[in-house]
Amino acid sequence: METCLFCGKEHDDARLALPLLHGMCHSCSFWTRILKGRRPYVVIDGHCYRVAPEDRCGFRGFGGFEYTIKFNDGNVVKTTNLWHRGKIDPEFIPFFPNTAEFVDSSDGMGMDEAAVIVNIDSAFPF
Ligand SMILES: [Zn+2]
Repeated sequence: METCLFCGKEHDDARLALPLLHGMCHSCSFWTRILKGRRPYVVIDGHCYRVAPEDRCGFRGFGGFEYTIKFNDGNVVKTTNLWHRGKIDPEFIPFFPNTAEFVDSSDGMGMDEAAVIVNIDSAFPF
């Protein structure tokens, strides 16, 4: 067991394939990588998302449902490739202020409905 230098929690993350940032637990390492990474992210209501390119082939975030996102600067983006990175850990909330909000989309699916689909998919890992 080691103590995370950031959050102070004890952890044993040697089992993980991803290399951890020095002295940090998996969770702190995960959020620090997003903060320091080059990939843009969106924070909505304490959750972190990535708007992946529309022209990317393969699996689409939230099954390809369309979401409309309004950024704090007023820009509005429609995406059918939104990926949920996770609910931001309490220790990292000060570093991830909300940057946008969901706008109701008449042809989109509500977040609650999409979450149900994600849960169904994760229940059948084959
Ligand atoms: Zn930690």
